[in-house]
Amino acid sequence: MEKAKEQSKEILISADAGGSNQSAAASRKKTKSFHPPIETFWQLPPAKEPRRSKPRFIAILSNTFKYMEPLLSTKKSQSKRTVLEGHHDPKDQIIVDSFRELLHLEGQLPKKHFDYHTLLRFLRMRDFHLVKAKDMFMQYIKWREEFHVDTITKEFKFDEYQEVKQCYPHGFHGVDRYGRPVYIEQLGMVDLNKFLQVTTVDRFVKHHICEQEKTMNWRFPACSLAAKKHIASTFSILDVKDVGRSHFSKPARHLFMEIQRIDSCYYPETLHQLFIINAGSGFKVLWKAIKKFLDERTLAKIRVLGTDYRSFLIEAIDPSNLPTFLGGECTCSESGGCLFSDKGPWNDPEIIETLQVMLNAEEEQECGELDEQIASTSLPSDGTAGDNIDKPLLKKIQAFEPVLEAAKKKIASLETALEETKLVLQGLTQHIEELKR
Ligand SMILES: [Zn+2]
Repeated sequence: MEKAKEQSKEILISADAGGSNQSAAASRKKTKSFHPPIETFWQLPPAKEPRRSKPRFIAILSNTFKYMEPLLSTKKSQSKRTVLEGHHDPKDQIIVDSFRELLHLEGQLPKKHFDYHTLLRFLRMRDFHLVKAKDMFMQYIKWREEFHVDTITKEFKFDEYQEVKQCYPHGFHGVDRYGRPVYIEQLGMVDLNKFLQVTTVDRFVKHHICEQEKTMNWRFPACSLAAKKHIASTFSILDVKDVGRSHFSKPARHLFMEIQRIDSCYYPETLHQLFIINAGSGFKVLWKAIKKFLDERTLAKIRVLGTDYRSFLIEAIDPSNLPTFLGGECTCSESGGCLFSDKGPWNDPEIIETLQVMLNAEEEQECGELDEQIASTSLPSDGTAGDNIDKPLLKKIQAFEPVLEAAKKKIASLETALEETKLVLQGLTQHIEELKR
């Protein structure tokens, strides 16, 4: 959509398979403009508004709002929630709302996939074309149901993970300078024969989906809390040192294609940038073939570098977050190496605790909404609990009562504040009328 391109700061990204001697100037020549990073739209507003002297009647108004103070008592937790929620661009919000309406016409869809950012990702992937985005989103919902994604996430155990990592080195490791999770894969070190001895392509695909879900539901929120801004994409490094044709045998191609299909169809717009490093002449030949399978939007986020990649990585990632084998300072020796540590804000005990509290509150809120619905249809008219209501449910309903009472009080004080505001406004109107005479 034109809008997105107009308002965006242009990013210059190499769309060509550059080599080790690719100079910055040469790379600049072969560039194209593209959408800005997904977080660009989600910058939070400045913490403090510029201070202005208040006109007197504003001071009177703000005084009447002192009744609203109880509503602001949860400001701290709300600010964390704001970080997770990110800023909603008003123009995007209109399109997202239309998109949601369009999806509602398709019937009852799961509420949890209807949030602003998820819908916006699908819209952006389809250049804000509503019908195309709808088709893509419906495919996503269908895939989640047919593949039992929610069940896999809860129940699938990838017991062979450590063995798989030995013959297919990959993993998340720290964050980039912006705060996005960094994902590293050493493709040249993949031993496919051993890989197929310890696992299967199907099992690895399931594991990949679990990891994607963890990134969406846990790593991004944790990184957002750590960086105090909305984080929703990954910085990836693909080391292709020693990659040759043997790495692209039939099963390897099948695995690569399947992972690529899942990522682009069902987790769109979650890649910020991919640096392919140590690309030699052999890889460049392969790259020409691979490029054909990648969509233009993904291609524009990929930068192919040779052995002289360190300065590019350091520019994006602090050395403390970069393993020594990529020119950084981290060894994660206590975890048996950087690709085994899963180091990042998502494993920080303080952030885990905060996130857990927030997720529990969300669940309780959902439970509360559900219980309220059940209570309104199942409670006997005399107020006593009937035999058909189970005790845990009754406890939940009872636990919800003080919350309701508190909410009622807040609403009452809000109404008082509104009444007073009305009076002030009436006085103001009278005053203006008198001045006119
Ligand atoms: Zn490390």
